[in-house]
Amino acid sequence: MTKWVYFFGAGKAEGDGSWRDLLGGKGAGLAEMTRIGLPVPAGFTISTECCDYFYKNGKKYPSDLKKQVVANVAKLERTTKKKLGDPKSPLLVSVRSGSARSMPGMMETILNLGLNDRSVQGLAKSTNNERFAYDAYRRFVQMYSTVVMEMSKEDLEHRLRAMKDRHGVKEDTAVPANGWKELIGEYKATFKQKTGKDFPDDPMEQLWGAIGAVFGSWMAEKAVTYRRVEKITGLLGTAVNVVQMVFGNTGDNSGTGVCFTRNPSDGAKEFYGDYLVNAQGEDVVAGIRTPMPLREMAKRLPKVYGQLEKVRVKLERHYRDMQDMEFTVEDGTLYMLQTRTGKRTPSAAFRMAVDMANEKLITKEEAILRIKPEDIERLFYPVIDIKIDKKSLDSRIIASGINAVPGAAVGKVVFSAHDAEAWAAKGEKVVLVRKETSPEDVGGMAVAQGILTATGGKTSHAAVVARGWGKCCIVGAERLNIDYKTKTMSAGGKTVKEGEWVTLDGGEGIVYSGEMQLVTPQLPLAYDTLMKWCDGIRRLGVRTNADTPQDSRKAREFGAEGIGLCRTEHMFFTDFEHPEKGQERQRAIQEMILADTREARVKALDKLLPFQRRDFVGIFKAMDGFPVTIRLIDPPLHEFVPHERAKQEELAKDLGISVDIVARRVEQLHEANPMLGHRGCRLAITYPEILEMQVRAIIEAGIECKKSGVKVLPEIMNPLVLDKKEFSILEEATRRVADAIIKQSGIKLDYLVGTMIELPRAAILANEIAEAAEFFSFGTNDLTQTTMGLSRDDAGRFLPDYVDEKKAGVFKMDPFQTIDAKGVGMLIRWGIDGGRKTRKKLKIGICGEHGGDAESVKFCHEVGMDYVSASPFRVPISRLAAAQAVVEEKAAAKSKRK
Ligand code: PEP
Ligand code: MG
Repeated sequence: MTKWVYFFGAGKAEGDGSWRDLLGGKGAGLAEMTRIGLPVPAGFTISTECCDYFYKNGKKYPSDLKKQVVANVAKLERTTKKKLGDPKSPLLVSVRSGSARSMPGMMETILNLGLNDRSVQGLAKSTNNERFAYDAYRRFVQMYSTVVMEMSKEDLEHRLRAMKDRHGVKEDTAVPANGWKELIGEYKATFKQKTGKDFPDDPMEQLWGAIGAVFGSWMAEKAVTYRRVEKITGLLGTAVNVVQMVFGNTGDNSGTGVCFTRNPSDGAKEFYGDYLVNAQGEDVVAGIRTPMPLREMAKRLPKVYGQLEKVRVKLERHYRDMQDMEFTVEDGTLYMLQTRTGKRTPSAAFRMAVDMANEKLITKEEAILRIKPEDIERLFYPVIDIKIDKKSLDSRIIASGINAVPGAAVGKVVFSAHDAEAWAAKGEKVVLVRKETSPEDVGGMAVAQGILTATGGKTSHAAVVARGWGKCCIVGAERLNIDYKTKTMSAGGKTVKEGEWVTLDGGEGIVYSGEMQLVTPQLPLAYDTLMKWCDGIRRLGVRTNADTPQDSRKAREFGAEGIGLCRTEHMFFTDFEHPEKGQERQRAIQEMILADTREARVKALDKLLPFQRRDFVGIFKAMDGFPVTIRLIDPPLHEFVPHERAKQEELAKDLGISVDIVARRVEQLHEANPMLGHRGCRLAITYPEILEMQVRAIIEAGIECKKSGVKVLPEIMNPLVLDKKEFSILEEATRRVADAIIKQSGIKLDYLVGTMIELPRAAILANEIAEAAEFFSFGTNDLTQTTMGLSRDDAGRFLPDYVDEKKAGVFKMDPFQTIDAKGVGMLIRWGIDGGRKTRKKLKIGICGEHGGDAESVKFCHEVGMDYVSASPFRVPISRLAAAQAVVEEKAAAKSKRK
């Protein structure tokens, strides 16, 4: 027989705090507090396994559940010496949800269960307080009607207000017993009218209704959404906690409160919380009355406060983490109703972790595990001011998309990169809205506050570029109808015109209308300490993906130890140090593409050479002493030429050729499937002069830097390689150009030539490729795309359904965000193995977006890479995850030995 129900009470419990998975956080906390001798009302927990059974069996309970619940109710009655439904001194219970991970407010609760027309009289008599008893009864009827029978909250609230008007009172506390009696009558009549049934007065029937409602709330829309946003997966379901009611609303010697063992806002070691006199827990949460701070409670109820302070110390020592506790005082007696690890702001998370390690409450390794990657993310990006209330936020939603880069952005909508640049030049804040972006848009993207696209996924052009700059970005907002002609975007009946304000929440992927207040958090002092601890423990190196000297400097500040990917084509469009020269670069690359002879191409490339060289000098200087991996040109050439007639005309005029020639060449470059077309190192095979120019720029910049005392370690990388022979052609060409320049300069400069592994074939034949390649860098954006056969630019259309547990739920995570360890991961393991069999010391890293994703970084550690590379703003996340990987690995090895 499976045990579905677990009892706690009178100092004993059939479980403990470590049983979170089975009893949920609340159930495990109640069991643990009971065990360690804290004053906890008695009760029982129906396990999460039961919820799992319920959903796996067409919403049916296990056959033996009924017997177990009945037995536990009887035990509860014996322990409390009270009986459910007793007309003299009735036992009342609360029925609450609680899964293994806290989901505040997402699931249901019912209080005062067990009241009916008879037992309410017993309650009135035993408490000598009729008003209180009928208030408790109407709360129960109200909650039961809305939660179990899903009746309209507004309707019942409306009746409550009307009753108060009739009695001429404002506060609930002023309503006389008769007022409550009238309201209960009205509620019950409404209940009958809506459901066709009488309101249940049998407490066991009430209990089963409440249990069903709690299990039902596990799959309610808001709970499912919360789990998706918080990335909560793999839980069995919610538990149901049935606990003896204690009352904080029996008079001024009673009350209820919520407190934290440390300050959850800034992490300070101080007792922090609120207390509400003569109230029930829901009154604190509902925020209708203003509570008093704990220090005020200390003055009013010194004895109880003293007890509470002792509980605080005991619980924090016991759990070795900040606790968030709920308590009730019933006629001067303290009861603990809940303890759980408290939620905290990112900045408090750092302070508490470091303080607790310094206090020796936890180890430094545990402190490292206490920080979540999102804590770091939220430290650096501006966010929408939390003072803006949820209702007003919800009313302003225009559309939602994929949350590509977190943070928030506010600006006026523009629909072209050109307009973005023009408006920004006039001092306007803009949000760039495009169906999708391409390298041509980079200038406009750079000046925009945030970027919004209707298509694309997490590794689309817009996402990758914005991430590099730490710029708020939402992609794949598929429902958004963007009309470039009328310069409008619309969704769900709302239309936004050019120049109107919008606010983007890149963390949630939501687009709001209007200009909202943003706040930028302050970096806590503990941040540096904790990150140093991480650096001291991790094995993986952490580099950055950066294409400009500025980004390289920024990444150094974030702790990057070199560059793992410099995408040189990003340098063809924008001159970040001299923006006025951007056009010149653009024209040079376009001239090169339009050229029809090798000579003409070389002439154009010569114009690009000084630009690239200058950028490399800046990057080498920023990375003085650290390796810099530079990737040769990668995207198909058609991305660099204009497709609109007007722009083609402009280009033709600038280059002194006819527009027909431009149009024809653009036409020739058209490919049915450019992602698998003439791109990557295939460009350099066809046009070796591009490789020659780029290698020259790298090596000349290296020599120039070396001459001025900068330590330079260039690593020249070829993209999209699929065969050893292909790589060898490029490697030989690279060495020919580089060695000649080095020889001529008389300066010693070491460099490496290596490859990206972005195609299944390259991973499979890694042993052969490693004969010529000195390093591998896994380009997991393309490797995911090519292994799974999912377009990184279009998958946004269906991937959300693939990761939604209520829809297809094929994957737990977006594979473009978190590495698909099973499939793509198998190729990576194979590639590393093959590569190192040939070349023992082969240097191996990753430079796809996964290098900045905590879960994927842990995978990279596990498979033995040397380093990961992440966009500058994600470097600290990778440092943290790399350290966590070591701590978790040690813990796993220890538990294996045991
Ligand atoms: C990759 O494919 O993982 C990669 C880093 O290259 P890109 O994103 O530039 O294609
Ligand atoms: Mg790639």
